[in-house]
Amino acid sequence: MTEDTSSRRGLLLINTGPGKGKTTAALGTALRAFGCGMRVLFLQFLKGSWHYGELDAIGALGPDFVIKQLGRGFVKVGGAETDPEDIRLVQEAWEEARAAILSGEWDLVVLDEINYAISYGMLDPELVAEALRQRPEMVHVILTGRNAHPTLVELADTVTEMREVKHAYQKGILAQRGIEY
Ligand code: ATP
Ligand code: MG
Repeated sequence: MTEDTSSRRGLLLINTGPGKGKTTAALGTALRAFGCGMRVLFLQFLKGSWHYGELDAIGALGPDFVIKQLGRGFVKVGGAETDPEDIRLVQEAWEEARAAILSGEWDLVVLDEINYAISYGMLDPELVAEALRQRPEMVHVILTGRNAHPTLVELADTVTEMREVKHAYQKGILAQRGIEY
């Protein structure tokens, strides 16, 4: 198929909702983009302490598909106050993400779990929206995480809400390697 460059444009996509599949759908899209010769940057905000399989898989693909974990993983939320150090790390992560998006060096930038950072009040959604509006027009961006902010949903081109029908966890089955992490 010949590419119609005149119709190429950068999209903003959001994977949100309570069901499983937000991060892995972003990984699938990232793999598709990489396969089309695009340069992909996959930034993980607020990652857990697990070692995710995708780190090793993508690490082997070379400099055009880069994955990075930002922040220091598990963040305590609900009840106890958020540690100011985590807030600082999220802001630092955001600065890196913002610079990457605005640089135009990447065809696709994924901000994995950024919606959690916003919904926990650690990152201002207006700052994120402003950078997304200013980005070079060919840059695709995917945001993931539950409770996507309405301002970002409004701005997005494609928004998918994962609905939980059931989850193995509810039967007491612990997270499985290769499926959950
Ligand atoms: P995945 O990384 O599998 O695509 P996700 O990005 O949609 O999941 P997150 O909210 O980021 O989900 O949660 C990350 C971890 O929690 C994953 O190990 C995932 O399998 C698990 N998880 C996702 N949804 C649920 C759920 N509804 N109940 C319990 N655990 C879940
Ligand atoms: Mg996720």
